[in-house]
Amino acid sequence: PISVDDPIEEHRICVCVRKRPLNRQELQKKECDVVTVPSKCVLMVHEPKQKVDLTKYLDTQTFRFDFSFDETSSNEMVYRFTARPLVETIFEGGKATCFAYGQTGSGKTHTMGGDFSGKIQNASKGIYAFASQDVFLLLSQPRYRSQNLEVYVTFFEIYNGKVFDLLNKKAKLRVLEDGKQQVQVVGLQERQVGCAEDVIRMIAIGSACRTSGQTFANASSSRSHACFQIILRQRGQLIGKFSLVDLAGNERGADTASADRQTRMEGAEINKSLLALKECIRALGQNKSHTPFRESKLTQVLRDSFIGTNSRTCMIAMISPGMNSCEYTLNTLRYADRVK
Ligand code: ADP
Ligand code: MG
Repeated sequence: PISVDDPIEEHRICVCVRKRPLNRQELQKKECDVVTVPSKCVLMVHEPKQKVDLTKYLDTQTFRFDFSFDETSSNEMVYRFTARPLVETIFEGGKATCFAYGQTGSGKTHTMGGDFSGKIQNASKGIYAFASQDVFLLLSQPRYRSQNLEVYVTFFEIYNGKVFDLLNKKAKLRVLEDGKQQVQVVGLQERQVGCAEDVIRMIAIGSACRTSGQTFANASSSRSHACFQIILRQRGQLIGKFSLVDLAGNERGADTASADRQTRMEGAEINKSLLALKECIRALGQNKSHTPFRESKLTQVLRDSFIGTNSRTCMIAMISPGMNSCEYTLNTLRYADRVK
């Protein structure tokens, strides 16, 4: 018989992959699609051994994940199998996290934040918006309606080890850890929201703030982690928290050999945080008592989500399908493989 105390470890961590379609430029350049998704959990990459002839020198590498999404999958579909199962966790007093990992241009922001470059009404929704909708849907159900739960959101960016508030004009914030190892981002704006539309307005404000003041839209957003949180409170007391993180481009972690000192330092910081993240998720999955959350600002800020018995996480590894991205794609898949 199954004991009620049996930990359901396999459900604590979910690792998935999403392949985006070839984009217009890649199609124009007749770039070859080297990634196939043969079934919803298996994914194959054809790694070119020599970059001369496409088909003759290919070596196939196969990976298995909880789910693999091919180029025809929608944001809603990806949401349903990744973040959706975690929404209930925060109503049960738990912490949930969902990470989008991958190379710049692989679809992290598209998947998480959706498209807020144009008008809000026409924007396509991402996981932030779908998760918020379901939070309000659950809130309207009889079992939760009577509990007087309040919903808040925060939206911040971690750039080069520093935290900036995306709902407050990128105000620089301090991170404090008290004697009881509670980590606090001092002054982080928590905005109360009453419906899904309120949340979408916050996502639009934060997304615009993230890319403002940049001549080249992806230049600094690819070097920062963006964290959107949905927080449930009851008479001010924290009940649950869902952190949805759009990570810095993983190729930026390799910028440690750059001639430019600033770029080199940022690269080292990104590298450190992505390694720390991997170790923290692994520690959560293996129920380890030691979580190396202090190794980076990202893991420090998310500390309470990596510990506790009711913490669950999901990682979505984003990959580009093109031959030219092959090396990064394999790096991404190897990282995701180590997390699970
Ligand atoms: P990242 O945040 O990882 O750097 P983006 O989300 O900005 O990448 O995606 C790069 C470009 O590719 C954007 O123009 C985005 O709209 C497009 N894109 C990404 N994923 C998809 C997808 N699954 N379907 C269609 N377009 C996509
Ligand atoms: Mg992005």
